[in-house]
Amino acid sequence: MTSDGSARRPRPGSGRASRQGPGQGSGPVIDLHAHSTVSDGTESPTVLVEAAAAAGIDVLAITDHDTVGGWEEARAAARRTGVALVPGIEVSCAVRGVSIHLLGYLTDPDDPALTAELAHARASRATRLERMVERMAADGIPLTYEQVLAQVAAGATAGRPHIADALIANGTIRHRDEAFRVWLAEDSPYYVSHHAPHPVRAVELVRAAGGVPVLAHPFTLTRSRGADEALVEQMYAAGLVGLEAFHRDHGPEQIARAKALAERLGLLLTGSSDYHGAGKLNQLGEHTTDPAVLDAIEQASSGVTPIVRP
Ligand code: AMP
Ligand code: FE
Ligand code: FE
Ligand code: ZN
Repeated sequence: MTSDGSARRPRPGSGRASRQGPGQGSGPVIDLHAHSTVSDGTESPTVLVEAAAAAGIDVLAITDHDTVGGWEEARAAARRTGVALVPGIEVSCAVRGVSIHLLGYLTDPDDPALTAELAHARASRATRLERMVERMAADGIPLTYEQVLAQVAAGATAGRPHIADALIANGTIRHRDEAFRVWLAEDSPYYVSHHAPHPVRAVELVRAAGGVPVLAHPFTLTRSRGADEALVEQMYAAGLVGLEAFHRDHGPEQIARAKALAERLGLLLTGSSDYHGAGKLNQLGEHTTDPAVLDAIEQASSGVTPIVRP
């Protein structure tokens, strides 16, 4: 740990990652991005960790949107199943209207500044969903805010997927994706944004909380425009440690961009599934992270929140 308790930057040169799937490589299978019902996944933290065990995952990070609320339950399930657990979060950020996701591993769950920022985001997400539902209902889409709330687990981070779930529950659509293709997209007339920190601020908060910031699916084109090199450089200057290069939303071109940037700046490269249970096609272990990269992430953390090992 550094003298101020914040996380260290790992040594450059350890930016390797693999795309091995379960059973294909010889080392441990490491998946560093997964969601539970504590945000927009469809499985409880317990079921998520059990699913990881069944899928042959050796190390799983739980990374719910804007909350550490699933950590305790996931820790208990990890101890029971023998899966190693990396407690994490996925911070929703925004810059000039573009949504950016920042993974934060091994942060101090009691850090006041990060906790306050996440609480602000969660509160603003609830009001924002209510406004989206108002706009949709006013346009004749059969939906009430109560129906949406019924899809959000107690204390969970509410998001657009819960609107989709309400529309599935009331028989309007069959899959989340149908709602995202039209009504829930960022360029939809029903879209309302929520409070979200600038990604540079989010990197600073994660680092100050002793955690390790990794930019999630940096160049994804499926949801919004993604990050650009200049933004990644600013985030690097603030303490960014890695890029999630190997992800379903990245094709060869996005992976090449991530690799070139990582090489130039000395960033780690991770790979993960971004599993959401039945809410998305992403399957546990479909992309994985090299054990040396996980070691570097652990070394870069302050140690306040350890990896739970069997
Ligand atoms: P929000 O956090 O409310 O902005 O909603 C964003 C979340 O919606 C992301 O974290 C994804 O998990 C989910 N999402 C985005 N696009 C889709 C899609 N096409 N199908 C299912 N889920 C999606
Ligand atoms: Fe999500
Ligand atoms: Fe994300
Ligand atoms: Zn995610």
